[in-house]
Amino acid sequence: MASVKLTNVKKIYGKDTVAVQDFNLDIADKEFIVFVGPSGCGKSTTLRMIAGLEDISAGTVEIDGVVVNDLQPRDRNIAMVFQNYALYPHLSVFENMAFSLRLKNVPNDIVYQKVTEAAEILGITEYLTRKPRALSGGQRQRVAIGRAMVRDSKVFLMDEPLSNLDAKLRNQMRAEIILLRQKIDTTFIYVTHDQTEAMTLGDHIVIMKDGFIQQVGTPTEVFDMPLNLFVAEFIGAPKMNTFKTQLVCEGGKYYVTPYGTKIEVTGKKAEQLAANGVKSGEIILGVRPEHFVLAHEGEEGAIPCKIVVNEMMGSELHLHVVEDNGDKLIVRIPTVKLDDETRNSLVYGKTIYVTFESKVMHFFDTETERNLLV
Ligand code: ADP
Repeated sequence: MASVKLTNVKKIYGKDTVAVQDFNLDIADKEFIVFVGPSGCGKSTTLRMIAGLEDISAGTVEIDGVVVNDLQPRDRNIAMVFQNYALYPHLSVFENMAFSLRLKNVPNDIVYQKVTEAAEILGITEYLTRKPRALSGGQRQRVAIGRAMVRDSKVFLMDEPLSNLDAKLRNQMRAEIILLRQKIDTTFIYVTHDQTEAMTLGDHIVIMKDGFIQQVGTPTEVFDMPLNLFVAEFIGAPKMNTFKTQLVCEGGKYYVTPYGTKIEVTGKKAEQLAANGVKSGEIILGVRPEHFVLAHEGEEGAIPCKIVVNEMMGSELHLHVVEDNGDKLIVRIPTVKLDDETRNSLVYGKTIYVTFESKVMHFFDTETERNLLV
């Protein structure tokens, strides 16, 4: 068992630098939770308070129901993996992994058993006699994780563990962490600024901004139903297109009117707008780049726009387009859906028509920026 609970946790550095505000979160045993947000939003500070590396200015942190605010890091039964790995250069991989056990005078045979078991799981058995400098970044990363594993920690804390790796290795290690997670029976709290890492690793994601939690949810929940504009634009790449438009409620039906068109809102989205009593007026409409489709001139709901950049990504095109009023949008089109002629015609300066269905629309209040469907 290793649940973690934060109640009204706050961190103030010095007199008035508020890094974390009123943080409330229940992390279940064996859950993989990811704190994500832009640099400076308070992710590391929260993690460090859980670890005991930072004093808690207000509120409580509990591990397995025990308040740990005043416990030393070593008494919290947690393990932390940092982005710089913090390996001892003069010690072998084996001794780096064994270090904490040696400090506790654990008998040699048990040290051997624990280190070799962890090395086996991590696939680093053949490197046990090497020094860290003779390892690649990804291998060092595994040693750092192995060092945490041998301690039988109840909670694994990871602060941007992949940020020093190149893009290819990062993808590989991300997949490895997913596999590892199935082998290591423990609770993970993982900090990253990268929304892809958050989406792929987390059972639940905590999205933070300026020290405040913006939303807690599964990857699907935060993607499909972002609570506010910040979450909507932060999750998903390329980011969601958002633009001001009028929402019109007419004869019991809702319409949006982007760029001189009129598109009916139907199904669940319309029902929810009605249930929430949303009236006609200006809103911020959100449409993800992959939810646009190409349309024909004159077709209902076809929005004219001009191509300014065509990025060929292989399996898809990212078209950067601009509206008459200067709004910039990104449209993602799978290349398999295009015939050669259409594909070759999508060049700089060409006017194209795009549209989208009701079910992909997101509606935000222009002032509060909150999702109008929630
Ligand atoms: P993140 O991990 O999301 O990048 P941090 O938790 O490191 O953010 O920082 C949150 C805020 O607290 C930032 O504004 C940062 O400048 C501030 N901060 C972090 N550490 C200290 C410190 N030791 N002293 C003063 N301010 C700090």
